[in-house]
Amino acid sequence: MKTEQELLRVLKNRFGFDNFRPGQERTIKTLLTGEDVLTVLPTGAGKSLLYQLPAYLLTGTVIIVSPLISLMQDQVDRLRRQGEKRVIMLNGQLVGHERATVLRNLQSFKFVFTSPEMLDNKNVLAAFSQVDVAMLVVDEAHCISQWGPDFRPEYLLLKNVRQQLGNPTTLMLTATATPQIRQDIQTKMGIKKAQQVVKSVDRPNIFLTVQKEYQQQEKDEELLRLVQKFKGPGIVYFASRKIASQMAEWLTQHTDLNVAAYHAGIAPIERFQIQRQFMENELQVICATSAFGMGVDKNDVRFVIHYHLPHNLESYLQEIGRAGRDGKQSLAVLLYADGDEMIQRQLTSIDVPSVELLKQIEEHNIPSTILGEQAELFNFYLTHHSSPEQIVNTFKHRQYQMEHELQEMLGYINNEGCRREYLLAY
Ligand code: ADP
Ligand code: MG
Repeated sequence: MKTEQELLRVLKNRFGFDNFRPGQERTIKTLLTGEDVLTVLPTGAGKSLLYQLPAYLLTGTVIIVSPLISLMQDQVDRLRRQGEKRVIMLNGQLVGHERATVLRNLQSFKFVFTSPEMLDNKNVLAAFSQVDVAMLVVDEAHCISQWGPDFRPEYLLLKNVRQQLGNPTTLMLTATATPQIRQDIQTKMGIKKAQQVVKSVDRPNIFLTVQKEYQQQEKDEELLRLVQKFKGPGIVYFASRKIASQMAEWLTQHTDLNVAAYHAGIAPIERFQIQRQFMENELQVICATSAFGMGVDKNDVRFVIHYHLPHNLESYLQEIGRAGRDGKQSLAVLLYADGDEMIQRQLTSIDVPSVELLKQIEEHNIPSTILGEQAELFNFYLTHHSSPEQIVNTFKHRQYQMEHELQEMLGYINNEGCRREYLLAY
């Protein structure tokens, strides 16, 4: 058992910090006893330290699973700046012989950053199985839950990965997770009981407001007024890609600000450019879908406006949490017009396929693209041996869940009391 003094000494010597922040010490102490931990701390609270510090007190390699290359790169850069050389990224960007070299030398690294799909590879997993794993870290752990806003089916592979690695001590990190999602994260990881460290997501410098308008057009005018008044940097969230693009153009015409759209329909290279320009203040306003945000770490976002309803309160918290990370006064406005929930229902409605249809697709090799948006998810489940019945149940549950979440969102909008209390209670 490490004493508090020892931990503080490493904190000072390695990282240059004098004190732990809320949640850090408990997470680290628990990990060092070998228990699994799920830690929920707001963005910017210092989650990276939770695996970086123990790494220096344990023997072996720390494996960090991350959903985005940009997030990995950011962590790797920071570790190298701290003088750590034993750090590497293992992802789809490496060509064959580079990957082989890394795999041969895995044990020589203290930190290995990788993606879930990379670990799904037999050879890769075999190489990792030879390594003395100090700890398995799942960053953005909410991605494993279908009830979360950023569900990544590839994350479901991690349960098996963990098993194959001999169930190493596991640290799951996320900025927002309801009790339901927290439970789901553990279940999907195949962990019976992890210790949970959860700290409040309250951000008193963000002023929260809901503005009810009667018609869509009034919403446009109100958006224009807000954007002109507060200028940016700011993010406006939309539920539709098309409307995000249209409004970006409209705002460009009607203001002297630089505005761009960002959504999954835009080419990755261009998206990357837009993100960079926003970071560097060449763009003041981004009109985005929920695709924008993860991995965007800009301190001085002054407003987050929702033009449409967010998917649920969970996403809402996450999205408005991108405002005011520097602690300065910031604004979160939700614009609501009567009937907005209908738009939301239309956009998110899933056609739950019938068991019959799924069986036919499977048996007769019919291209699963006839399932539209669900095709990718379906293929994923199929390749990982789910039955058509299981798949249909998953889709049905998802549909039920989305309606429930929409009702919660409307509860927030129509709540007469303090909005902050409502969100925190949630
Ligand atoms: P998160 O992953 O929770 O968003 P990070 O791990 O990126 O947060 O850390 C955010 C910032 O906080 C970093 O600049 C980090 O160096 C700093 N930080 C972390 N722990 C401490 C601490 N105990 N004292 C002071 N600064 C800290
Ligand atoms: Mg982080």
